Amino acid sequence: MDMSWLSPLAEANPAGEKGWGSFATVAIPAGTTVAAFGGYVTSGEVLATFDDVRQSRSIQIDDDLFLVSSESPEPGDMLNHSCEPTCGLLGSAMLVTMRDVAAGEELTFDYATCDTADYDEFRCMCGTSSCRGTITGRDWKRPDLQAKYDGWFSPYIVRRIAAATLSDAASTQDHA
Ligand SMILES: [Zn+2]
Repeated sequence: MDMSWLSPLAEANPAGEKGWGSFATVAIPAGTTVAAFGGYVTSGEVLATFDDVRQSRSIQIDDDLFLVSSESPEPGDMLNHSCEPTCGLLGSAMLVTMRDVAAGEELTFDYATCDTADYDEFRCMCGTSSCRGTITGRDWKRPDLQAKYDGWFSPYIVRRIAAATLSDAASTQDHA
């Protein structure tokens, strides 16, 4: 039995340089849950003992907690990053379409909405006009991305953004 789930409205297929990706097989309306991630929960220290491929098949769910999927790849693991994604996170581990998706379009999300650690820094090949080039664990701090993905960040990042906003407000008051 698989640990992660991919909607029957999609299938995992080879996706060129990116390896594998998941693609809509029919038109999918906005607001549809299309994938759910499961796995073992590990600390960053334990995650670092896995090989690069297995590390890439994980999702960060707290400052130092990661969901790592099974030893063999599953369709529910094959969700790529895009800087102009079709999907967003709902909670820590579900993907929902952010807009209507046409048959054949890839299901993607922006890793800035889940990553605050640099374990998965990589050069992006999404090819969109808004591509950031290098994707890092600091992208969530960008005000433009915070505005773009308002409502689509992992809950632990929502709390970090709120805490950063509060401390900014406090330091502004100190200077007043
Ligand atoms: Zn990109």
